[in-house]
Amino acid sequence: MSFSAEVKRRNVFGVGAVYAIVVGLLALGGTLASGEPDERIVDLTYAFDSDTIFWPTEEGFVLEKGNEGVVEEGYYYAAHRFRTAEHGGTHIDAPIHFHADRPTVDEIPLNRLVGPAVLVDVSDRCAEDPDHRASVADFEAWENQHGPIPTASIVLIRTGFGRFWPDRKAYLGTDERGASAVAKLHFPGLHPDAARWLIAERQIRAVGLDTASIDHGPSKQFETHRALFEASVPAFENLAGLDELPPTGFTVVALPIKIRGGSGGPLRAIAILPDIAAESNAAVSAPE
Ligand SMILES: [Zn+2]
Repeated sequence: MSFSAEVKRRNVFGVGAVYAIVVGLLALGGTLASGEPDERIVDLTYAFDSDTIFWPTEEGFVLEKGNEGVVEEGYYYAAHRFRTAEHGGTHIDAPIHFHADRPTVDEIPLNRLVGPAVLVDVSDRCAEDPDHRASVADFEAWENQHGPIPTASIVLIRTGFGRFWPDRKAYLGTDERGASAVAKLHFPGLHPDAARWLIAERQIRAVGLDTASIDHGPSKQFETHRALFEASVPAFENLAGLDELPPTGFTVVALPIKIRGGSGGPLRAIAILPDIAAESNAAVSAPE
């Protein structure tokens, strides 16, 4: 069964939820004219530059400067080229990354990339153990405080490692490069049992975190990637700005570059925080 059919069958993404998101998006309109930045939009994406963190085996992001200045005809003109691995900086892993007959990045349904989201903060555990994997117990502890993770949510995991960006040694556990550096990686991730639990028990839409990989640094079998992608759940890696998010009530929009046949790619991810005024209007008038 497809994700959308599954969602329809379970009626987990009903009219009310769509209405709340639309109200939230429409409410963003007013600030553009006033010229003020909208504090309700959180950028979850790091800029791509020569400091952007990539897997130790990858070259990194390269911007080849083209024209940048006033041309003969008298007007200013800028146009460059870039070169990048699919997996580096803030990016998406498409299910095909670890599963041969699952969607490529251009094939990921858009309803996997836009939706209501929660933030599960495991930064205390990760401060004690840099190889910590967010566990079923961590998610259950969060649910005891905030209620069940709503079905078909985008689940974001805050490990706190975002505070190290772009210090490679602190963020990855090593600043060495090349294949031999992979064995020296240390950073938190998501436990494969918890991935399976989120898929089976909470039917998650997508998952993301503030480290270089959804499997923790020491992983050799990449079990979490394999469990997620078998279920066609995409993963967002190297997310920025998770410290600015509330635990619940926000919307994530995470749109990757649409590379045909790609296994992943650079991602522009944002979060739209709840608008208290719009929410109380919606509560009064939203159709049930
Ligand atoms: Zn990746």
